[in-house]
Amino acid sequence: MSTIVHKYGGTSMGSIEKIKSVAKKVILEKEKGNDVVVVVSAMGKTTNKLVDLAKEISVNPDKRELDVLLSTGEQISISLLAIAIQSLGYDAISFTGYQAGIRTKGIHSKSEIESIDVDRIKENLEQGKIVIVAGFQGINESGDITTLGRGGSDTTAVALAASLGCNCIIYTDVEGIYPVDPKLYPNAKKIDCIGYKEMIEMSRLGAGVMETTSVEIGYRKNVPIYVTSSSKDTKGTYITGNESTINCKPIIGIAIDNNTSILTIKNILLKSNDISMIFDILSNENLEIKMINQIASDNENTNLSFIVSKGDLGCVDKAMYEIKSELNHVEVYKDLDVSTISVVGKGINYDVINKIFNIFKTNNIDFKQAFTSELSISFIVDDKYKQSFIELVGDEFNL
Ligand code: ASP
Ligand code: MG
Repeated sequence: MSTIVHKYGGTSMGSIEKIKSVAKKVILEKEKGNDVVVVVSAMGKTTNKLVDLAKEISVNPDKRELDVLLSTGEQISISLLAIAIQSLGYDAISFTGYQAGIRTKGIHSKSEIESIDVDRIKENLEQGKIVIVAGFQGINESGDITTLGRGGSDTTAVALAASLGCNCIIYTDVEGIYPVDPKLYPNAKKIDCIGYKEMIEMSRLGAGVMETTSVEIGYRKNVPIYVTSSSKDTKGTYITGNESTINCKPIIGIAIDNNTSILTIKNILLKSNDISMIFDILSNENLEIKMINQIASDNENTNLSFIVSKGDLGCVDKAMYEIKSELNHVEVYKDLDVSTISVVGKGINYDVINKIFNIFKTNNIDFKQAFTSELSISFIVDDKYKQSFIELVGDEFNL
């Protein structure tokens, strides 16, 4: 008999009907003789709706209170799933993050799991119960509820599997990990097995299937992760560190980050506190800085171009307005219709880069900026080029 952590995301928990079918799947696993821990996310789009409610009251709601609010989504899911399992005649118990022993550290809305005391979970498994844990939440040193960042239920699941020393199965609305989002590139062939590092890179650069931190924990603690469909009985994708089974194509995929915009600020005075003022404003608007480029500068002035997240609707505009009103000598420009497209893999060498540049040249695709890391090369392109870039690169590298 072994223990397994199963995780069901928001879409698979989207309605009472769906929760009932999750209950049946969980019971089947229990019937195989396994101890089952189920981590769940909030039903459907509940978390977004909760954020919207808070924003109806305040543009910048207090983060502690937002955590109290958002964590309720998962609390609804755990109780309903426990009721669904019990109504089918099986024993189940639900736990919030706190009840499951999940301690966190760091700031509200982006906390990290510090430790998990799994005693209570183990006791209940020993009593034959199916244990259901709320994803995305924990409790900090001060006893306050915290959340782990959007998509954080994956992190709860993988961290629990690490603490229990078991495997983790992520049930999702896609059939596994694809090299490119099949909605954008229908030819994409599902990956059977991907290495932790490549998966971290894909997630970090925008592939939405797995939340980055969860894969990082999997990598550090060596947790075997299997990503598969919650509704279809098809083969999914293993995420592992086992080199012999990993797909070793030099290019493993293309990650797309639509949450990209460029903010260019000209005539910044170097001998002033212009720059720290700009950073303060960007951080107040919650615009994550992905990259900074210095364009042309002399001894006194500089021009900076920030690649930032789009943030919530209107954040970039608000930041521009604030910068302009605080520093009236600067000029501010924005470009929102851009995306970051990254080609990811172990084999990014001059030959690969040359092929990509040839695609740009032959198809008249322009890019605005490019940057590289050990496992990727990223391009910021106008949205109008996105689809053809994906298709051409997908075909070239047989993704
Ligand atoms: N419900 C949370 C969110 O929407 C956590 C998760 O889905 O993993 O971000
Ligand atoms: Mg998710």
